[in-house]
Amino acid sequence: MLRTNTCGELRISDINKTVTLCGWVQKSRDLGGMTFIDLRDRYGITQLAFNTDWDKGLCDQARALSREFVVQVTGTVIERESKNKNNPTGDIELKVSSIKVLNDAKTPPFTIEEDTDGGDELRMKYRYLDLRRSSVRKNLELRHRIAIETRNYLDKQDFLEVETPVLIKSTPEGARDFVVPSRMHSGQFYALPQSPQTFKQLLMVSGFDRYYQIVKCFRDEDLRADRQPEFTQIDCEMSFVEQEDILNTFEGLVKHLFKTVKGVDIPKLQRMTYADAMKYYGNDKPDTRFEMKFVELNSVVKGQNFKVFDDAELVVGICAKGAAEYTRKQLDELTEFVKRPQIGATGLVYARYNSDGTIKSSVDKFYNEEQLKTWATAFDAQPGDLMLILAGAKEKTQKALSELRLEMGSRLGLRDKNTFSCLWVIDFPLLEWNDGDPNLLASLAGRWHAKHHPFTSPKPEDIALLSTDPGAVRANAYDMVINGVEIGGGSIRIHNKDLQAQMFDILGFTKEEAQKQFGFLMNAFEYGAPPHGGLAFGFDRLCSLFGGSDSIRDFIAFPKNNAGRDMMIDSPSEISDEQLKELSIRTEIAKA
Ligand code: ASP
Repeated sequence: MLRTNTCGELRISDINKTVTLCGWVQKSRDLGGMTFIDLRDRYGITQLAFNTDWDKGLCDQARALSREFVVQVTGTVIERESKNKNNPTGDIELKVSSIKVLNDAKTPPFTIEEDTDGGDELRMKYRYLDLRRSSVRKNLELRHRIAIETRNYLDKQDFLEVETPVLIKSTPEGARDFVVPSRMHSGQFYALPQSPQTFKQLLMVSGFDRYYQIVKCFRDEDLRADRQPEFTQIDCEMSFVEQEDILNTFEGLVKHLFKTVKGVDIPKLQRMTYADAMKYYGNDKPDTRFEMKFVELNSVVKGQNFKVFDDAELVVGICAKGAAEYTRKQLDELTEFVKRPQIGATGLVYARYNSDGTIKSSVDKFYNEEQLKTWATAFDAQPGDLMLILAGAKEKTQKALSELRLEMGSRLGLRDKNTFSCLWVIDFPLLEWNDGDPNLLASLAGRWHAKHHPFTSPKPEDIALLSTDPGAVRANAYDMVINGVEIGGGSIRIHNKDLQAQMFDILGFTKEEAQKQFGFLMNAFEYGAPPHGGLAFGFDRLCSLFGGSDSIRDFIAFPKNNAGRDMMIDSPSEISDEQLKELSIRTEIAKA
């Protein structure tokens, strides 16, 4: 090895030892006779000391080192005169006896420090330099820890890690596929997996019984802030289980991760039906770190000649504890917030329950104090509370109020990143009507779409509704939600070929299409498929949650930007005419 120790290792107990360190020059301070250099590696920073009185030539050599030079130094560990309590190696420094420059470096385009001066795009372009910063490196260390503990837990539970292929076949179900043209089979394409779903089910048919994989998945979706076109899942499947077994097994995984990685004991997960999540939080991934549940007010507020409420399908509100003191300006801000196009409410009605017991609302013209008292009763509001109410079409209003609830939760400091509230949302609908979801192929519009995926089993008691009222069928499908983020989701699968065929039929596939696209799975089901089910966790999201960040990008070594570009390697990029030709892609189409 080129070194005897790392830059994070030396302590007072090492005094007088002769050591050799390697690393990057973080910074140097020239104090006339003395020169100090902070030498950095993955493990930490050690101060190097030079003194013209000790060795003038060496001091000159040290002064010539610029930031990010790679050096090897040998010297004696000595006690520091002025200690640095913020650095684990801060009690000592290295009295250097020789320096060797292993490589020089250009001045980096931004400072490699905790608080860097580099903007997002610049740091993405030089990601390999950004990764030198300890905060970014720590995120990847956390990711590694979570992966190791995931494997530890699942291995103990007899899960086998099996790799599944990355070049598979395109299916029009789910999101859009990324496709890869085949050179050998002109005009044909592989697709990159949106998840290993069908393969893990086939592994169950093969008798593998318990499978997992920490695996890359690819979805060609319109990008949103917290999405990456390629992302990682902890993908799992089990045989001979019911929903309850899966919930318990993976609740165990998450508890294990919280305990071993964060030292946090989380209580038994709450369970909430999808229907309740929508009714009380307007959201299938409710942030349950705080209450502020929805209160429906149709029966309380209608019939007082206030047209907005009278005409609305749903009048619904939340009670913000202790917010009656909100100023006019703050209330105007909230009104602006709900009127933003992404939220889409037409206005906000509020009522302050003042601490003197009076209630003042923004619709005093229509409701007297006595009527407002009935609102307070419905909300279970106390003096000092603020009631916020939206009205309109049901789904849209629920969605808007859900955003307002989260906003109020943030404003009132109820969404602490170090508090974790985990729950299972269960009993999802099996199907949803596709009105033209921009993330799906246009040809799938105007028909039923599987809410989870087409292999999800309906609840046995709802199967009869499949032919009469498909929208009312509930699935044996579940999501794990932590602090308002969907961390994982899965389902019990269909393992009967006839039911699977019926499902494809409802989803609008002809028999031929179903056979062409999913024949391999349906055929496998003719050879003894066990009852099975599973789920997948979004690994990047889990890491960002554990790391207390909203951005999954910070937890991926080489992420893409919000436009799906890799700024460092500059991809996607054009390919040569020669390559296009070999792939049988007509250039005028490819370049159109
Ligand atoms: N394959 C599913 C997904 O990616 C997870 C599952 O059902 O196991 O969402």
